[in-house]
Amino acid sequence: MSEENRLRDDITRFAKSLFDRGLTPGNSGNISARLSDGTLLVTPTGSSMGFLDPAHISHMAADMTHLGGDKPTKEVPLHSAFYDTRQTTGAVVHLHSTHAVALSMLPETAADNALPPLTPYGIMRLGKVQLLPFFLPGDPAMGQAVRGLAGKRSAVLLANHGPVVAGKDLEAAVFAMEELEETAKLALLTRGMNIRSLTQIQVHAVVDRFDVDWD
Ligand code: ZN
Repeated sequence: MSEENRLRDDITRFAKSLFDRGLTPGNSGNISARLSDGTLLVTPTGSSMGFLDPAHISHMAADMTHLGGDKPTKEVPLHSAFYDTRQTTGAVVHLHSTHAVALSMLPETAADNALPPLTPYGIMRLGKVQLLPFFLPGDPAMGQAVRGLAGKRSAVLLANHGPVVAGKDLEAAVFAMEELEETAKLALLTRGMNIRSLTQIQVHAVVDRFDVDWD
């Protein structure tokens, strides 16, 4: 099987898994992944993550001109902002996952570090997650806001909308996304309880040990 067809199948499989676990409802969410020639596969506009057809996934040039397949998601500017500002990006996943969206609306959520330090894995896989403001769906300003981070962040949370996570490949981006959603869920489950979060010393020990980008 060609690299491209394998990646089409992988996107379809991961997307269905995310959908089946209730991590993005209806036709929300989108995924992109880079091929070794620099072109990209992007999930089509209006498509449900649960019912993708591998053959219909959009094929895009590195500059996001359309090469084949269906028309891509309207949220392409979000994806290209990560590929253009972070050279290590091999895949981008965007979901409308419930707990992350809820976290984006809480007054205590810090814009420059939206995930509270509850477990080491959120820190290891995501670094600091930037909370971005609310944008109208499809507004290209979302992509500009990601570009404004100058490649410093691999994950953002769009207020009242959902998270976007970049990874070195599809599996890494999906696993990091799952960690983001699980950490948001823990934050909500324990909200108002007198819990022991990781201390600043413990956070920095994780950052040092696992070489996390934390500036
Ligand atoms: Zn969205």
